[in-house]
Amino acid sequence: MSRIARVIVDVPSRGTDRPFDYLIPDSMQGWLEIGSRVGVPFGPRTLQGFVIGLAEQSETPDIKLKPIKELLDLVPPLSEDLIELSAWMSARYACHRITALQAMLPSALKGKAERYIRVADPSEWGEREQDTATAADEPVLFETVDELDEAEAAIVAHIRKQQEVRMEHLSRKFAGQADTIKRLLQRGVLSETRSIRDKVQKKTVRTISLRLPEDEIRTIIDEFPARASRQKEVLAFIADIGGEVTMKQILSVLGVTASTVKSLADKGYIAIQDTEVFRDPYKDRHFKPSQPFVLTDEQQMVYDSIVQRIDSRTEGEFLVHGITGSGKTEVYLQSIQRVIEQGRQAIMLVPEISLTPQMVERFKSRFGDHVAVLHSRLSSGERYDEWRKIREGQALVAIGARSAIFAPFAHLGLIIMDEEHETSYKQEESPKYHARDVAVHRAHQHQAVVILGSATPSLESYHASRSQSNDEFKPTLLEIHGRALGSELPAVHIVDMREELKEGNRSMFSRPLHEAIADRLEKKQQTVLLLNRRGHSTFVMCRTCGYVAECPNCDISLTFHQRSNNLRCHYCGHAEPAPEVCPECGSEHIRYFGTGTQRVEEELAKLFPGIRVVRMDVDTTTQKGSHEKLLNTFRDRQADLLLGTQMVAKGLDFPDVTLVGVIAADSALHLPDFRAGEKTFQLLTQVAGRAGRHHLPGEVIVQTYNPDHYSVVHASRHDYASFVREELKHRQGLGYPPYCRLALITFSHEKLPLLVRIAENYVQMVKDQAQRLGWLGSLERFSTEALDVLGPVASPIPRLKNRYRFQCMIKWRGDMDVAKLAEFVSQQLQDSTRDKELLISIDVDPQVMM
Ligand code: ADP
Ligand code: ZN
Ligand code: ZN
Repeated sequence: MSRIARVIVDVPSRGTDRPFDYLIPDSMQGWLEIGSRVGVPFGPRTLQGFVIGLAEQSETPDIKLKPIKELLDLVPPLSEDLIELSAWMSARYACHRITALQAMLPSALKGKAERYIRVADPSEWGEREQDTATAADEPVLFETVDELDEAEAAIVAHIRKQQEVRMEHLSRKFAGQADTIKRLLQRGVLSETRSIRDKVQKKTVRTISLRLPEDEIRTIIDEFPARASRQKEVLAFIADIGGEVTMKQILSVLGVTASTVKSLADKGYIAIQDTEVFRDPYKDRHFKPSQPFVLTDEQQMVYDSIVQRIDSRTEGEFLVHGITGSGKTEVYLQSIQRVIEQGRQAIMLVPEISLTPQMVERFKSRFGDHVAVLHSRLSSGERYDEWRKIREGQALVAIGARSAIFAPFAHLGLIIMDEEHETSYKQEESPKYHARDVAVHRAHQHQAVVILGSATPSLESYHASRSQSNDEFKPTLLEIHGRALGSELPAVHIVDMREELKEGNRSMFSRPLHEAIADRLEKKQQTVLLLNRRGHSTFVMCRTCGYVAECPNCDISLTFHQRSNNLRCHYCGHAEPAPEVCPECGSEHIRYFGTGTQRVEEELAKLFPGIRVVRMDVDTTTQKGSHEKLLNTFRDRQADLLLGTQMVAKGLDFPDVTLVGVIAADSALHLPDFRAGEKTFQLLTQVAGRAGRHHLPGEVIVQTYNPDHYSVVHASRHDYASFVREELKHRQGLGYPPYCRLALITFSHEKLPLLVRIAENYVQMVKDQAQRLGWLGSLERFSTEALDVLGPVASPIPRLKNRYRFQCMIKWRGDMDVAKLAEFVSQQLQDSTRDKELLISIDVDPQVMM
């Protein structure tokens, strides 16, 4: 029996970023496990914490230990493998251990819970003595009930007397009997309810069922005394339905009171039960069951390689590079099927779950109720229930965005990451983890398989699959070259917008795109139109003097919100009314560039009177379920054209789309980000893949001011290999990933001169430290281990929330633990300056350079 629990407390600070020892009180013996959530005294307060280890002896024997105050959950919310994962994350991403642990839990579990135990069905478990003593003439009803042994009976009797007992009280009173209580809970004799401060509770329904065989009930109904006609009515109703009826149903249909129903229970004819139900966000939806397709030859080859590894039950990673429409999803589905048949579970990651209703539908159709959907737009109660379905073993497949990688499955067999190149797999706030790395680590823990899938794999993954080095991450490359339905990839035409302008066309539509849209309208085929939003922000500019409205706290332009008619800063939340005249020069020619898509929509209405447009962007999709509604409108052919931002580029599969237009291919090409070319290539490839997926041939028109840019050219030829070759050459020349790794260190402070000094100091310290370790050296020299520090320079957003920002970039190659180095140096620095105003953030493998 362990006496000591090692606890990480919920204070994300450097001083508390280590386990603290606590005594385990007797009442918690048998309950407390690694992964348990506890309340512990910490200074004057009680804090939440997680048990990460158990021990016989404290490592600090001279300090008097305090006991743990309370145990917050019956079943530990985290399993041992997730506890281990948090240690790995905290080292890998230089984040506090508690921050990593919190990232793994649904928000509903972050509040404090009160747990109560009650007797699950008092009419069955409690009233026995009374009934047998007083109601001799009533039928004997309890022969079928399991007997309770003495210890069990004592516990049940105790709880019954109080109706409801707090868990802490119960475990104290019956110390040493944890197993007995657990067994009673498992058998359903006792049930647990919990109330969490944020009001997320398990949901229960009260159901009624017959306790006697139907023919006996019929006799009872026939012989029912006339004065109890209401009771008779209720009993007949339940008998007629013949199964379970909810209390609510009876009350609303028959208009009787609950006491009428209760008296039937008292007589022993019926049982009233509170059954816990999971809130099911998809309960009103019907999913047509789907059968596996017969795989194409290419799909089969990919599937075989994967399944061979799955069957061997060893870890392994695959990179499935399959063109859009090649049937990757079908391969995922069948691979999951295999894992489920082996009694294991699977995680399916998608970039953004609300953008992928079609994916959810395909999973629900194939696996029905075994699918848990972890969706950011669910209420916190719904999300908690989906999470619990996983933790309690009812769900076999979890589908969700980035954080679904923490789905607490016990026997994980497969992790799939669809569109693995998407930046949304990287979390931008702490813990700044990448789901791909976490997936590889979890797969290692569980001897599971990872499938990364994309039509445009990230250069990191692709390069890793090709490289000769013996890195920990080395996926096997599998390719699908043809489309599942045999259709051709669409022809892509590049339109040079400079030429259009030269010839006097000032509209945002080139002549070819204009003609093509008109043509589809006539043929009653559908069009998808993409406006790349990066770069097309919604700012306010004076046409007379060029004034742009900027945030007073951050050096960034304000965004115009038409609905509220105000200007807002997306970084700090500052808001102000939109001016009517220019605050600089007084001109009335101040223009509001509403969302880019809104302008396009207006223009479409002008050019093609009567055109039915579905517009999908941040403004039209704020409400829960709105994506799905918009997409259904389009799918049901109630619209001719789907217009939107990046959202329309991904995953959609509509048979009647034969035209895809891209308004400005290069709007993101010149952003200060070394991945700008890669992002542009990916977006163009993805959106082009929406056209002609089924039987009608597709066509794509790409408008650009950079028709010769290699990203645009290779995307137009569907030529991933050539793009990669050219892009890798650039990356190697400049010393960027995948030829090295990066860590972005950002400093912020209110005082600029001080900040500059601190940042310079930091860079020097990192260099000194690296020198001492023998790492410092230019990356161009082909040594295996090398480290270089660039900067410090002002950040691309130089001021945010009134704090100035400077950054430096550490580039390195080799196995060295740079996160640790960066964190170590940041600690030294913070110790030496003792400046509470100074903030240092460390982003390992940054995806966004701003
Ligand atoms: P991807 O995920 O690679 O973009 P999908 O899985 O969406 O491709 O497949 C494209 C289309 O082909 C879908 O409509 C899908 O139902 C269909 N499909 C996939 N595999 C098969 C198959 N083996 N036989 C018939 N149809 C298939
Ligand atoms: Zn002006
Ligand atoms: Zn601001």
